[in-house]
Amino acid sequence: MDKPIKKIVIVGGGTSGWMSAAALAKVLKGQYDITLVESDDIGTIGVGEATIPMITLFNRMLDLDENAFMRETQASFKLGIEFVNWGRLGDRYIHGFGVIGQDNWTVDFHQYWLKQQLAGKAKPLEAYSINTAACLANKFIPAQPNVPNSPLSQIAHAYHFDAGLYAQFLRRFSEARGVKRIEGHISEVRLREGDGHVASVVLKTGQIIEGDLFIDCSGFRALLIEGALKTGFDDWSHWLPCDRAIAVPCANAKELFPYTRSTARSAGWQWRIPLQHRIGNGHVHSSRFMSEDEATALLLSNLDGAPLADPRTVKFRTGKRSKAWNKNVVSIGLASGFVEPLESTSIHLVQMGIAHLLTYFPTAGFDAHDVDQYNRVLNQEYEWVRDFIILHYKATERTDSAFWNYCREMDVPETLQQRMDLFRSHGRVFREGNELFTKVSWLQVMHGQRIQPQSYHPLTDLIPEPEIQAYLEEVEGVIQACVDVMPTHAAYIAENCAAPKMAMR
Ligand code: FAD
Repeated sequence: MDKPIKKIVIVGGGTSGWMSAAALAKVLKGQYDITLVESDDIGTIGVGEATIPMITLFNRMLDLDENAFMRETQASFKLGIEFVNWGRLGDRYIHGFGVIGQDNWTVDFHQYWLKQQLAGKAKPLEAYSINTAACLANKFIPAQPNVPNSPLSQIAHAYHFDAGLYAQFLRRFSEARGVKRIEGHISEVRLREGDGHVASVVLKTGQIIEGDLFIDCSGFRALLIEGALKTGFDDWSHWLPCDRAIAVPCANAKELFPYTRSTARSAGWQWRIPLQHRIGNGHVHSSRFMSEDEATALLLSNLDGAPLADPRTVKFRTGKRSKAWNKNVVSIGLASGFVEPLESTSIHLVQMGIAHLLTYFPTAGFDAHDVDQYNRVLNQEYEWVRDFIILHYKATERTDSAFWNYCREMDVPETLQQRMDLFRSHGRVFREGNELFTKVSWLQVMHGQRIQPQSYHPLTDLIPEPEIQAYLEEVEGVIQACVDVMPTHAAYIAENCAAPKMAMR
């Protein structure tokens, strides 16, 4: 039973299917037989265009040339997310990637900032982060490792890209490395007698595709992991009540911002994702609190340019599969779960699913210890993301709608409540293990949404106050000087990775 597996079948050709195919084709060096099945008549979900900096590691693992990738996917750069109207109507803050300030003394930089902020002497948090300061100035340059002591070396970026073009890009990459693609509609999943593993999938045409390991990337349908194996789903919609998104692209009207914008509405929020050829927009909302017609009208009345297609509704349920890996099926992408696109974490969770699959890559015996550990690790990844997203809904002072009243008053997971309480007393934040979100991510959202610490870390008092003030001013000045010399986002793209003009869609 400890023989190697031979044949891997990936079910689904959306972002998760082609990311899985590309990664396996690259890492497994052609030693395994990889087939991907996708159905043109079902198509893909067609949203999912904002990412976080970990995607650069994925692209680097594939040895992709960044400029070529940018051109082929009509991409723009992303330094963070601007949140509008979340704490209160009229509020604005940026959750920037990367670091804040420069650690110099015993405790975290933000504690010195907090001490001065409580005394009314500090600038807004944004002034101490190169990522957020660059967002505000609409500037971009990638990290400059050749100036190691400068904030320019600390810039962290991700991308906004056209999900359909990214899948096509990865398809070309995968097929060039031996992945076989079969187009067809799977109408039946056959289980093996005895252990109940998936033996094959059968197309409407009658073609049978057998495999040893199946990767279920069939999206919300979850064809194998749920349809065939009835694995079960942990529903998180009581904490994350949004269950619909209306999506519509519109024409690029204004400057190309290097950030995603998320604007809270009365029963959810609206995304704005700038690409080179268009802007992606969507209104995520809760059907318990707003009708589809109302949500569509609100979206259409808040676009920067003319709509380029009819609005389209996507229904979803937040939560995750009880086991991402069950028997010989590993679910990746929407088939394994969905938290909410608020912090652009789904593609990252796809990436984590693939990375952990490589760590626990099975032999024909499918050792239960490996499978259990994979599920534990994936669960943890999902729960970390879940808590961070719930924070955005819970930490609000809005009282203008039933939706916000519900969110403000709901109970949250104990793990999240502890973090909020800890911050509220002395502004302390922590990162658990390899948790995706760093201390400064927690800081920016809690501060941006008005959780005000009562005090600061007592050890900041070990440094004389004028020294702290001078240091803050120095950090801010250096960051501003760096931002001043950066090109605008549009100029950087024009010079390095302008995409061909294409019909907007
Ligand atoms: P899909 O794209 O749905 O692909 C499923 C595939 O399975 C398709 O190829 C389909 O043809 C195939 N298939 C299904 N059934 C069959 C069958 N019977 N036979 C053959 N083939 C079949 N993520 C981010 O990281 N950033 C974002 O900004 C973001 N925004 C989002 C906004 C919304 C509203 C939603 C719902 C999701 C968003 N996501 C985002 C998530 C992101 O879209 C997904 O993580 C990503 O696209 C992966 O989807 P997928 O490949 O798992 O599924």
